[in-house]
Amino acid sequence: MSRISFGRKRVKLKKVLGIRGRLVLLALIMVVPLMLERARSLEDARAKQIAFASNEYKKLARHTADSQREVVSSVEAVLKSSAYVYALGTDAGQPCAVMRAGLRVDLPWINSLSVTNGTGRVLCSTEPKLIGMNLGDRDYWKRAVSSGQFVLSDYLFSRVTSQPAVIAAYPIAAIDSLADSVVVAGLNLDWMSRVMNNLGDRPGVTAVLVDSNGVVLAAPDDLASMITQHLEDKTVLPAIRTQEAATGSKTGIIAHIGPDNRQRTISFAEVPGTDARLIVSIDEATVTAGINRDIRSAYFQLGMVGVMVLLGALFAADVLVIKPIRALTAQAVRFGRGDHTTRAESKELPAEFKPLARAFNAMAAQLGQRERELVASNNRLAVMAAIDPVSGLANRRGFQSRFDFEWLKATQLESELSLVMIDVDQFKLFNDSYGHLEGDACLRRLGETLDLIAGTTAGFAARYGGEEFCVLLPGSGAVRALQTAEMIRAAVQALAIAHGASSYQTVTVSVGVASTRPNDTQRPADLIEAADAALYVAKRQGRNTVAQHGQREIAAPSVSLAS
Ligand code: GH3
Ligand code: MG
Ligand code: MG
Repeated sequence: MSRISFGRKRVKLKKVLGIRGRLVLLALIMVVPLMLERARSLEDARAKQIAFASNEYKKLARHTADSQREVVSSVEAVLKSSAYVYALGTDAGQPCAVMRAGLRVDLPWINSLSVTNGTGRVLCSTEPKLIGMNLGDRDYWKRAVSSGQFVLSDYLFSRVTSQPAVIAAYPIAAIDSLADSVVVAGLNLDWMSRVMNNLGDRPGVTAVLVDSNGVVLAAPDDLASMITQHLEDKTVLPAIRTQEAATGSKTGIIAHIGPDNRQRTISFAEVPGTDARLIVSIDEATVTAGINRDIRSAYFQLGMVGVMVLLGALFAADVLVIKPIRALTAQAVRFGRGDHTTRAESKELPAEFKPLARAFNAMAAQLGQRERELVASNNRLAVMAAIDPVSGLANRRGFQSRFDFEWLKATQLESELSLVMIDVDQFKLFNDSYGHLEGDACLRRLGETLDLIAGTTAGFAARYGGEEFCVLLPGSGAVRALQTAEMIRAAVQALAIAHGASSYQTVTVSVGVASTRPNDTQRPADLIEAADAALYVAKRQGRNTVAQHGQREIAAPSVSLAS
């Protein structure tokens, strides 16, 4: 059962998959894996590009964070050395003067250098406006005093300049445990931003230095407007903190989807010793826009190649297979219709079809030859079928077809037509006396005689049946027909074939003659009947006689007959 249904399915499949379908399928089998492989490699390239970009930016973020750390370290070094100088100055009783004289604050990222007393009041500063101000309420100042270590503030507004600033503080107690002063430096945010400029001008990449609250402290020139602003995406910093807690590392990468629903890869690195973080955010869609464009155009190219291959397969199938098959089919149809002269033009066919075309042509030539032989043999058979073997004359069938033809011709030409019917007298007795073979020999001789006479009178002699003969005389009227009939009768008698049982002692014939001018109102059979009737009369008149049927009355055999 299953085998049968499988067989049916195969038949259906074969119907659906014509030669074009199969070629298209073949082309697809060749092209699709290439297309898939190309698509896979492009997707691979995209993934690699994103990974590469992430890695590159991670390194860059780290490097920039390191640069920032160097900035912070250098600030720390300046503060420490300032604290040391100040401590020495304190011993000398003129700390500020000593510090100012001993220190050259030539680092570009330090705006000002100040020293506060134990309550936070600025005692001396490179920035005169700062002297006398109280920084004791500042968080960074308190943290420096309580921790006894270098501290970097979060972003804040300078009380002197009202400009955004980051302040570094270092307690002199870290060097001299008896001292309560704190050295404070104002940092130049512009310079910090310049350090980050190597991260700028990259489409889809945002690099910023933020403090612990998410306020942007520094950014490349193209993102300068973000400085002092909170990060727009408030979810970034919590996501980074979660990652830091999970990995225990202050640097890393996270995949992040912001409120704008865009997929981003975020590299982060904390500036060591501070709460500030460098955050590099990569907008995947923007970064991969180029390769996405490439992928789209590659897909389009592949699609076009696929279409071209399909069209090529269809065209090739048409030109190389379908057309030759059609041509050969048309050829076969012409052969089938009997046109064996036509030949397949093998020059126009593909090489694979040439042997088939040659075989077709050879077959056509053979068929043509056989047909010619068949026609010749049919003709021979037709002739043989129309000839009586005993007398050598046309038989009844041969006579009938010739008679029909001459009747038609005479009707069209309105010419005369005569028929002479001949019957051997007392032939039964001849057979009885001399035997059947001798009877046949007699009939043969009579045939030869009639043939001779027909030849001289433009007539057509035939054996009508048994021992009866007839001679058709186209174009002959009653007079000539009567003469011919008499000629026949006399010729037979002149043969002098011995017939002991006959009153004439030789073989004789009785002859009936009928003539007419055929027209549409007459039937051919009427002429035969008339000649037959005349023959009957001749028999009745004593045999070895000629009797003629009334010329114009053959349609009514009962009318008077002439002898
Ligand atoms: P009638 O003068 O009235 O015509 O007498 P008939 O004997 O010729 O006529 P009938 O019809 O009685 O006999 C015809 C004979 O012709 C009978 C038959 O044996 C003979 N015959 C017919 N065909 C052939 C033939 O092919 N060969 C031979 N040997 N005899 C034939
Ligand atoms: Mg007879
Ligand atoms: Mg007879």
